[in-house]
Amino acid sequence: MRITMRQVEASYDVASQVFDKKIPSEAGALLLQDTHGLNINTARDFINDFRMMLHGKVFHRAMSAPAIEYYLTRIRSERGSSSQDKAIAAVRMHIDYYEGLRTVNLNAMRAVVERHSANQSAPPPLAAQEAAFNAAVNKAIADSPANRDARLLEAARMPVKMRVVTEVYVRNPDVVAAALDRAKGVCERCCTAAPFMRKKDGTPYLEVHHRKQLAHGGEDTVENANALCANCHRELHYGVDTTSVI
Ligand SMILES: [Zn+2]
Ligand SMILES: [Zn+2]
Repeated sequence: MRITMRQVEASYDVASQVFDKKIPSEAGALLLQDTHGLNINTARDFINDFRMMLHGKVFHRAMSAPAIEYYLTRIRSERGSSSQDKAIAAVRMHIDYYEGLRTVNLNAMRAVVERHSANQSAPPPLAAQEAAFNAAVNKAIADSPANRDARLLEAARMPVKMRVVTEVYVRNPDVVAAALDRAKGVCERCCTAAPFMRKKDGTPYLEVHHRKQLAHGGEDTVENANALCANCHRELHYGVDTTSVI
């Protein structure tokens, strides 16, 4: 029986609680069976594999490459890189064990492990992560609603966290303050009053934008700064007047 990512997600949640001694192992397996429709033996395997991964020991029950990917990502994000080191070692031993046992090749799983291993020392740049996400969104948009719905039905529900690296400009707070002071609550582009006030102190909500962007060699000076309403700011950056941009 095929295991969905939603079941993988649930198995991780339960295995993690069992490992932290919040619930007994067998109760966890029963929960996965009764609530998430997993075969009881598969549920036990997930719980056991997770424990072995965190101990850095070889585990013997099979897991799919996407499940390994999911587990390694969450272990890294929730338990840190030393735990992921152990898990990676455990998966490598598992692959060796499994390939020795049968005439199978676990190249897909090996690829997952090596990618995680390479990411250990250097998290991916934010820009690369965003580009990959945008490409995936475009692919999903191009796909049929029926295919999408089928995937959504089985997809993990909670987003997984990952660490990325990014570079930022260290901006001068006086430039921001001076631009806001100059604007006096009125957008310097569309010349209308800020459409709403800051919740915390009731001051007009404007965003300070650089006319020539810092990333394009612009100066962090009052002359190169404009205080803008959120709409104008978004339009300048994205070329659209929309409230749906995150
Ligand atoms: Zn405006
Ligand atoms: Zn801007």
